[in-house]
Amino acid sequence: MTRPRFAYFRGRTVPYEDARLGLLTHTLNYGTGAFAGLRGYWNEDEKQLFVFRPRDHVKRLLDSARLLRMNLPDSAEDLVRAIASLLAAEELRTNCYVRGLVFYGDEAIGVRLHGLTPEVAFVAVPFGLYIEKAEGAHLMTSAWRRVDDNTIPPRGKIIGSYVNSALIKSDAELAGFDEALVLNSQGQVSEGSGENVFVARGGRVVTPPVTSSILEGITRRTVMALLGDELGVAVDERPIDRTELYLADELFLTGTAAQITAATAIDHRPIGNGQMGPITTALRRLFLDVVSGRVAKYRDWCLPVYAATPAPADAARTRERVLA
Ligand code: PMP
Repeated sequence: MTRPRFAYFRGRTVPYEDARLGLLTHTLNYGTGAFAGLRGYWNEDEKQLFVFRPRDHVKRLLDSARLLRMNLPDSAEDLVRAIASLLAAEELRTNCYVRGLVFYGDEAIGVRLHGLTPEVAFVAVPFGLYIEKAEGAHLMTSAWRRVDDNTIPPRGKIIGSYVNSALIKSDAELAGFDEALVLNSQGQVSEGSGENVFVARGGRVVTPPVTSSILEGITRRTVMALLGDELGVAVDERPIDRTELYLADELFLTGTAAQITAATAIDHRPIGNGQMGPITTALRRLFLDVVSGRVAKYRDWCLPVYAATPAPADAARTRERVLA
Protein backbone atom coordinates (compact mmCIF):
# COMPACT_ATOMS: atom_id res chain seq x y z
CA MET A 1 0.00 0.00 0.00
CA THR A 2 1.27 3.47 -0.86
CA ARG A 3 1.97 5.48 2.27
CA PRO A 4 -0.19 8.61 2.55
CA ARG A 5 1.73 11.88 2.36
CA PHE A 6 -0.75 13.78 4.51
CA ALA A 7 -3.31 13.34 7.22
CA TYR A 8 -6.13 15.50 8.51
CA PHE A 9 -5.30 15.54 12.21
CA ARG A 10 -6.29 17.87 15.05
CA GLY A 11 -8.04 20.27 12.69
CA ARG A 12 -5.31 20.60 10.04
CA THR A 13 -3.83 18.83 7.06
CA VAL A 14 -0.36 17.81 8.25
CA PRO A 15 2.43 15.55 6.95
CA TYR A 16 1.38 11.95 7.66
CA GLU A 17 4.45 11.38 9.88
CA ASP A 18 3.31 14.19 12.17
CA ALA A 19 -0.03 12.52 12.97
CA ARG A 20 1.21 10.44 15.90
CA LEU A 21 -0.47 8.93 18.95
CA GLY A 22 0.94 7.36 22.12
CA LEU A 23 0.75 3.71 23.16
CA LEU A 24 -1.77 4.45 25.91
CA THR A 25 -4.26 6.06 23.51
CA HIS A 26 -7.67 4.94 24.78
CA THR A 27 -8.99 3.69 21.42
CA LEU A 28 -5.85 1.64 20.71
CA ASN A 29 -6.30 -0.12 24.05
CA TYR A 30 -10.08 -0.59 24.13
CA GLY A 31 -11.39 -0.23 20.55
CA THR A 32 -13.49 2.77 21.63
CA GLY A 33 -13.65 4.51 18.28
CA ALA A 34 -15.39 4.32 14.95
CA PHE A 35 -14.29 4.57 11.35
CA ALA A 36 -15.45 5.47 7.91
CA GLY A 37 -14.37 4.28 4.49
CA LEU A 38 -15.08 6.41 1.44
CA ARG A 39 -14.03 6.00 -2.16
CA GLY A 40 -12.79 8.58 -4.59
CA TYR A 41 -13.26 7.78 -8.30
CA TRP A 42 -11.01 9.34 -10.93
CA ASN A 43 -12.90 10.44 -14.04
CA GLU A 44 -10.31 10.71 -16.81
CA ASP A 45 -12.68 12.45 -19.29
CA GLU A 46 -13.28 15.31 -16.87
CA LYS A 47 -9.88 15.06 -15.17
CA GLN A 48 -11.80 15.12 -11.93
CA LEU A 49 -11.77 13.10 -8.70
CA PHE A 50 -15.26 12.42 -7.34
CA VAL A 51 -15.84 11.39 -3.73
CA PHE A 52 -18.92 9.21 -3.50
CA ARG A 53 -21.67 10.27 -1.05
CA PRO A 54 -19.27 11.97 1.41
CA ARG A 55 -22.09 13.61 3.38
CA ASP A 56 -23.71 10.23 4.01
CA HIS A 57 -20.42 8.70 5.10
CA VAL A 58 -19.64 11.60 7.42
CA LYS A 59 -23.16 11.49 8.84
CA ARG A 60 -22.75 7.77 9.61
CA LEU A 61 -19.36 8.47 11.20
CA LEU A 62 -20.97 11.10 13.43
CA ASP A 63 -23.82 8.70 14.28
CA SER A 64 -21.29 6.03 15.27
CA ALA A 65 -19.55 8.68 17.38
CA ARG A 66 -22.87 9.40 19.13
CA LEU A 67 -23.24 5.71 20.01
CA LEU A 68 -19.83 6.01 21.67
CA ARG A 69 -20.97 9.10 23.62
CA MET A 70 -18.64 11.32 21.61
CA ASN A 71 -19.59 14.94 21.27
CA LEU A 72 -17.47 16.19 18.40
CA PRO A 73 -17.38 19.94 17.75
CA ASP A 74 -17.19 19.44 13.96
CA SER A 75 -20.24 19.67 11.73
CA ALA A 76 -20.78 17.22 8.87
CA GLU A 77 -19.94 20.02 6.43
CA ASP A 78 -16.65 20.75 8.26
CA LEU A 79 -15.66 17.12 7.85
CA VAL A 80 -16.64 16.93 4.18
CA ARG A 81 -14.46 20.00 3.58
CA ALA A 82 -11.60 18.39 5.50
CA ILE A 83 -11.80 15.30 3.25
CA ALA A 84 -11.85 17.37 0.06
CA SER A 85 -8.85 19.47 1.05
CA LEU A 86 -6.89 16.42 2.18
CA LEU A 87 -7.48 14.80 -1.23
CA ALA A 88 -6.48 17.98 -3.02
CA ALA A 89 -3.26 18.14 -0.99
CA GLU A 90 -2.53 14.49 -1.84
CA GLU A 91 -3.06 15.40 -5.52
CA LEU A 92 -4.61 12.00 -6.10
CA ARG A 93 -5.56 11.39 -9.72
CA THR A 94 -6.55 7.77 -9.42
CA ASN A 95 -9.22 5.72 -7.68
CA CYS A 96 -8.63 6.02 -3.97
CA TYR A 97 -9.92 5.26 -0.51
CA VAL A 98 -10.37 7.68 2.37
CA ARG A 99 -10.23 6.33 5.92
CA GLY A 100 -11.96 8.42 8.56
CA LEU A 101 -11.46 7.81 12.26
CA VAL A 102 -13.14 9.12 15.38
CA PHE A 103 -11.31 8.09 18.50
CA TYR A 104 -10.52 8.93 22.08
CA GLY A 105 -7.01 10.32 21.91
CA ASP A 106 -6.63 10.46 25.71
CA GLU A 107 -3.72 8.48 27.07
CA ALA A 108 -5.74 6.98 29.90
CA ILE A 109 -6.22 3.63 31.58
CA GLY A 110 -9.81 2.65 32.42
CA VAL A 111 -12.57 1.13 30.27
CA ARG A 112 -15.35 3.68 29.81
CA LEU A 113 -16.85 6.06 27.27
CA HIS A 114 -17.33 9.16 29.41
CA GLY A 115 -14.91 11.84 30.56
CA LEU A 116 -12.73 11.45 27.45
CA THR A 117 -11.91 13.76 24.54
CA PRO A 118 -13.01 12.67 21.07
CA GLU A 119 -10.91 13.44 18.00
CA VAL A 120 -11.29 13.02 14.28
CA ALA A 121 -8.75 12.18 11.55
CA PHE A 122 -8.65 11.27 7.86
CA VAL A 123 -6.08 9.72 5.54
CA ALA A 124 -6.30 8.84 1.83
CA VAL A 125 -4.52 6.22 -0.28
CA PRO A 126 -4.76 4.95 -3.89
CA PHE A 127 -7.00 1.89 -3.89
CA GLY A 128 -8.05 -0.78 -6.37
CA LEU A 129 -10.15 -3.90 -5.85
CA TYR A 130 -10.83 -5.06 -2.29
CA ILE A 131 -12.07 -8.52 -3.30
CA GLU A 132 -9.92 -9.69 -6.22
CA LYS A 133 -12.52 -12.04 -7.67
CA ALA A 134 -15.14 -9.28 -7.93
CA GLU A 135 -16.81 -11.03 -10.88
CA GLY A 136 -17.03 -14.46 -9.30
CA ALA A 137 -16.30 -14.72 -5.60
CA HIS A 138 -16.63 -17.98 -3.68
CA LEU A 139 -18.21 -17.37 -0.27
CA MET A 140 -18.62 -19.50 2.80
CA THR A 141 -21.11 -19.33 5.65
CA SER A 142 -19.01 -18.42 8.65
CA ALA A 143 -19.04 -20.49 11.83
CA TRP A 144 -18.85 -17.21 13.76
CA ARG A 145 -21.97 -15.19 14.68
CA ARG A 146 -22.35 -11.48 13.99
CA VAL A 147 -22.18 -9.11 16.95
CA ASP A 148 -25.63 -7.72 17.66
CA ASP A 149 -27.32 -4.59 18.86
CA ASN A 150 -27.03 -5.63 22.50
CA THR A 151 -23.34 -6.53 22.37
CA ILE A 152 -21.51 -4.10 20.11
CA PRO A 153 -24.07 -2.45 17.81
CA PRO A 154 -23.19 -3.30 14.18
CA ARG A 155 -25.24 -0.26 13.08
CA GLY A 156 -22.20 1.76 14.14
CA LYS A 157 -18.89 1.23 12.36
CA ILE A 158 -17.22 0.67 15.70
CA ILE A 159 -13.54 -0.23 15.69
CA GLY A 160 -13.75 -2.87 18.45
CA SER A 161 -16.46 -4.81 16.61
CA TYR A 162 -14.14 -5.34 13.63
CA VAL A 163 -12.45 -8.12 15.59
CA ASN A 164 -15.67 -10.02 14.76
CA SER A 165 -15.18 -9.15 11.06
CA ALA A 166 -11.48 -10.07 11.16
CA LEU A 167 -12.24 -13.51 12.66
CA ILE A 168 -14.81 -14.09 9.89
CA LYS A 169 -12.60 -12.85 7.06
CA SER A 170 -9.37 -14.65 8.02
CA ASP A 171 -11.12 -17.99 8.54
CA ALA A 172 -12.71 -17.60 5.10
CA GLU A 173 -9.51 -16.64 3.28
CA LEU A 174 -7.35 -19.21 5.04
CA ALA A 175 -9.88 -21.89 4.04
CA GLY A 176 -9.55 -20.78 0.40
CA PHE A 177 -12.74 -18.68 0.12
CA ASP A 178 -12.87 -15.03 -0.96
CA GLU A 179 -15.27 -13.82 1.73
CA ALA A 180 -17.84 -15.14 4.23
CA LEU A 181 -21.41 -14.38 5.11
CA VAL A 182 -22.21 -14.48 8.79
CA LEU A 183 -25.45 -15.35 10.58
CA ASN A 184 -26.81 -13.19 13.37
CA SER A 185 -27.69 -14.42 16.85
CA GLN A 186 -31.13 -15.48 15.55
CA GLY A 187 -29.41 -17.70 12.98
CA GLN A 188 -30.44 -15.59 9.99
CA VAL A 189 -28.21 -14.04 7.37
CA SER A 190 -26.76 -10.69 8.40
CA GLU A 191 -23.94 -9.62 6.05
CA GLY A 192 -20.36 -10.22 4.94
CA SER A 193 -17.33 -9.30 7.06
CA GLY A 194 -17.33 -5.88 5.39
CA GLU A 195 -20.24 -5.91 2.94
CA ASN A 196 -24.03 -6.05 2.83
CA VAL A 197 -25.65 -8.89 0.92
CA PHE A 198 -28.39 -9.09 -1.72
CA VAL A 199 -30.04 -12.25 -3.02
CA ALA A 200 -32.01 -12.49 -6.30
CA ARG A 201 -34.56 -15.24 -6.74
CA GLY A 202 -37.34 -15.39 -9.33
CA GLY A 203 -36.70 -11.81 -10.54
CA ARG A 204 -37.05 -10.28 -7.06
CA VAL A 205 -34.21 -9.12 -4.87
CA VAL A 206 -34.10 -9.38 -1.08
CA THR A 207 -31.68 -7.98 1.49
CA PRO A 208 -31.73 -8.29 5.29
CA PRO A 209 -33.41 -5.38 7.11
CA VAL A 210 -31.43 -2.93 9.26
CA THR A 211 -32.63 -4.90 12.33
CA SER A 212 -30.79 -8.08 11.21
CA SER A 213 -27.45 -7.01 12.81
CA ILE A 214 -26.04 -5.23 9.78
CA LEU A 215 -24.20 -2.02 9.11
CA GLU A 216 -26.58 0.41 7.40
CA GLY A 217 -24.50 0.42 4.25
CA ILE A 218 -24.36 3.45 1.99
CA THR A 219 -23.71 1.22 -1.03
CA ARG A 220 -26.70 -0.87 0.08
CA ARG A 221 -28.89 2.24 0.04
CA THR A 222 -27.43 3.27 -3.34
CA VAL A 223 -28.07 -0.16 -4.84
CA MET A 224 -31.65 -0.28 -3.54
CA ALA A 225 -32.34 3.04 -5.29
CA LEU A 226 -30.64 2.01 -8.54
CA LEU A 227 -32.37 -1.38 -8.69
CA GLY A 228 -35.83 0.10 -8.08
CA ASP A 229 -35.59 3.36 -10.00
CA GLU A 230 -33.30 2.48 -12.91
CA LEU A 231 -33.46 -1.29 -13.42
CA GLY A 232 -37.12 -1.84 -12.44
CA VAL A 233 -36.23 -4.58 -9.95
CA ALA A 234 -38.16 -4.55 -6.67
CA VAL A 235 -36.10 -4.98 -3.50
CA ASP A 236 -37.63 -6.42 -0.33
CA GLU A 237 -36.02 -5.95 3.07
CA ARG A 238 -36.75 -9.04 5.15
CA PRO A 239 -34.90 -11.62 7.23
CA ILE A 240 -33.13 -14.21 5.06
CA ASP A 241 -32.59 -17.90 5.94
CA ARG A 242 -29.29 -19.60 5.16
CA THR A 243 -30.88 -22.05 2.71
CA GLU A 244 -32.23 -19.16 0.64
CA LEU A 245 -28.60 -18.50 -0.24
CA TYR A 246 -28.33 -21.99 -1.71
CA LEU A 247 -31.45 -21.51 -3.86
CA ALA A 248 -30.54 -18.01 -5.09
CA ASP A 249 -30.36 -17.21 -8.82
CA GLU A 250 -27.85 -14.44 -8.07
CA LEU A 251 -26.06 -13.18 -5.00
CA PHE A 252 -23.95 -10.07 -4.66
CA LEU A 253 -22.16 -8.13 -1.96
CA THR A 254 -22.14 -4.34 -1.65
CA GLY A 255 -19.71 -2.07 0.14
CA THR A 256 -17.53 0.95 -0.40
CA ALA A 257 -14.42 -1.21 -0.61
CA ALA A 258 -16.04 -4.28 -2.28
CA GLN A 259 -18.24 -2.08 -4.55
CA ILE A 260 -20.58 -4.65 -6.14
CA THR A 261 -18.97 -8.06 -5.91
CA ALA A 262 -20.70 -10.94 -7.69
CA ALA A 263 -20.70 -14.21 -5.75
CA THR A 264 -20.91 -17.29 -7.97
CA ALA A 265 -20.56 -20.01 -5.31
CA ILE A 266 -21.27 -20.43 -1.63
CA ASP A 267 -20.21 -23.35 0.58
CA HIS A 268 -19.05 -25.20 -2.58
CA ARG A 269 -22.51 -24.86 -4.17
CA PRO A 270 -22.83 -22.88 -7.41
CA ILE A 271 -25.14 -19.87 -7.21
CA GLY A 272 -27.62 -20.04 -10.13
CA ASN A 273 -25.65 -21.35 -13.09
CA GLY A 274 -22.34 -20.48 -11.44
CA GLN A 275 -21.81 -17.32 -13.55
CA MET A 276 -22.53 -13.69 -12.77
CA GLY A 277 -26.27 -13.16 -13.47
CA PRO A 278 -28.06 -10.45 -15.51
CA ILE A 279 -29.21 -8.29 -12.58
CA THR A 280 -25.72 -8.19 -11.06
CA THR A 281 -24.14 -7.51 -14.46
CA ALA A 282 -26.45 -4.56 -15.24
CA LEU A 283 -26.15 -3.19 -11.72
CA ARG A 284 -22.34 -3.27 -11.71
CA ARG A 285 -22.17 -1.38 -14.99
CA LEU A 286 -24.65 1.29 -13.84
CA PHE A 287 -22.96 1.61 -10.44
CA LEU A 288 -19.55 2.34 -11.97
CA ASP A 289 -21.08 5.05 -14.18
CA VAL A 290 -22.89 6.59 -11.21
CA VAL A 291 -19.90 6.67 -8.84
CA SER A 292 -17.61 8.21 -11.43
CA GLY A 293 -20.03 11.10 -12.01
CA ARG A 294 -21.22 9.94 -15.45
CA VAL A 295 -24.96 9.89 -14.70
CA ALA A 296 -26.43 13.42 -14.44
CA LYS A 297 -29.35 12.33 -12.24
CA TYR A 298 -26.98 11.08 -9.54
CA ARG A 299 -24.28 13.69 -9.91
CA ASP A 300 -25.23 15.17 -6.51
CA TRP A 301 -23.84 12.02 -4.89
CA CYS A 302 -20.40 12.80 -6.32
CA LEU A 303 -18.31 15.57 -4.76
CA PRO A 304 -15.70 16.98 -7.17
CA VAL A 305 -12.43 17.44 -5.29
CA TYR A 306 -10.76 19.83 -7.70
CA ALA A 307 -13.66 22.29 -7.93
CA ALA A 308 -14.76 22.35 -4.32
CA THR A 309 -11.22 22.94 -3.07
CA PRO A 310 -8.08 24.56 -4.56
CA ALA A 311 -7.81 23.72 -8.26
CA PRO A 312 -5.11 21.15 -9.15
CA ALA A 313 -2.68 23.94 -10.05
CA ASP A 314 -3.03 25.31 -6.51
CA ALA A 315 -2.48 21.98 -4.83
CA ALA A 316 1.29 22.44 -4.78
CA ARG A 317 0.81 25.68 -2.87
CA THR A 318 -1.44 23.83 -0.40
CA ARG A 319 1.34 21.33 0.04
CA GLU A 320 3.90 24.03 0.68
CA ARG A 321 1.54 25.59 3.19
CA VAL A 322 0.95 22.40 5.17
CA LEU A 323 4.62 21.55 5.10
CA ALA A 324 5.62 25.01 6.26
N1 PMP B 1 -21.09 -4.13 6.48
C1 PMP B 1 -19.92 -4.00 7.11
C2 PMP B 1 -19.65 -4.83 8.32
C3 PMP B 1 -18.96 -3.10 6.63
O1 PMP B 1 -17.79 -2.95 7.26
C4 PMP B 1 -19.24 -2.36 5.46
C5 PMP B 1 -18.20 -1.43 4.89
N2 PMP B 1 -18.28 -0.15 5.41
C6 PMP B 1 -20.48 -2.52 4.84
C7 PMP B 1 -21.38 -3.43 5.38
C8 PMP B 1 -20.86 -1.73 3.63
O2 PMP B 1 -21.11 -0.38 3.98
P1 PMP B 1 -20.87 0.80 2.96
O3 PMP B 1 -21.63 0.43 1.74
O4 PMP B 1 -21.44 1.99 3.64
O5 PMP B 1 -19.42 0.89 2.72
